[in-house]
Amino acid sequence: MPAVNFKSNAVLDSLSLGDFELLAPQLRVTSLTQATVLLAENQPGDLAYFPLNGTVSLVAAMRNGACIETGMVGRDGALGLSLRGEHTIPPGRAVVCQPGTAAVIETWKLRNYMREREGIRNSIFACQATLVLYMHTTAACNALHRIENRVARWLLQTFDRVDCATLLLTQEMLAQLIGVRRTTITLVGRNFQQNGSIRYRRGRVELLNRSSLEACACECYEAMQVKPGSHDAHVTLQVNRRDNVEVLSAP
Ligand SMILES: [Zn+2]
Repeated sequence: MPAVNFKSNAVLDSLSLGDFELLAPQLRVTSLTQATVLLAENQPGDLAYFPLNGTVSLVAAMRNGACIETGMVGRDGALGLSLRGEHTIPPGRAVVCQPGTAAVIETWKLRNYMREREGIRNSIFACQATLVLYMHTTAACNALHRIENRVARWLLQTFDRVDCATLLLTQEMLAQLIGVRRTTITLVGRNFQQNGSIRYRRGRVELLNRSSLEACACECYEAMQVKPGSHDAHVTLQVNRRDNVEVLSAP
């Protein structure tokens, strides 16, 4: 197993050396397995997660079973935290979308560090503020932008947060996250395949042409490229952007 670099998470990377060296021994690594519910609705979580690779979707579910993604957290952010450093109940469900790994810490430990260390507290607050901005933009995007533009935005944001050019993604999953019928996703995916942006096969989506996908993405893709953990909301996040991705063979 390759060495784990906690600093591949932007929030942990934003800490001063002293704060990081204080927190790092308390972190442990856990696998993020696709479809695992990390935080359930109306139930306070015991762990805070700092993803190192992979993505977690924040999902709002309706009584009739319909759901939609309201936010995405990857190595750019963290979840299971609270704005006030108190034990709060998450607003929705947090589900692993793309598998990977995360650094985790018990929430009570993190709360203690937040009380004691201003730098840690500020990094967590900045991370939460960015997530609010992300969710704000997602709400507008979901209501105002065309589905193909939203799907292109979502794919790019997800590719930016994983270490490979292939996503594990069924059409059914994507339809639920975008909040549309599966048949709609089928049509959009077909168009993206025909213009050479992606290749879809057996539940795997390969990124073939980033520029083409970017040309289709709505403005929200750029708007949400901010750096959590930074006090400047307009700093571009250094994520895993693959401008010239080679085609990978799906197994
Ligand atoms: Zn949009």
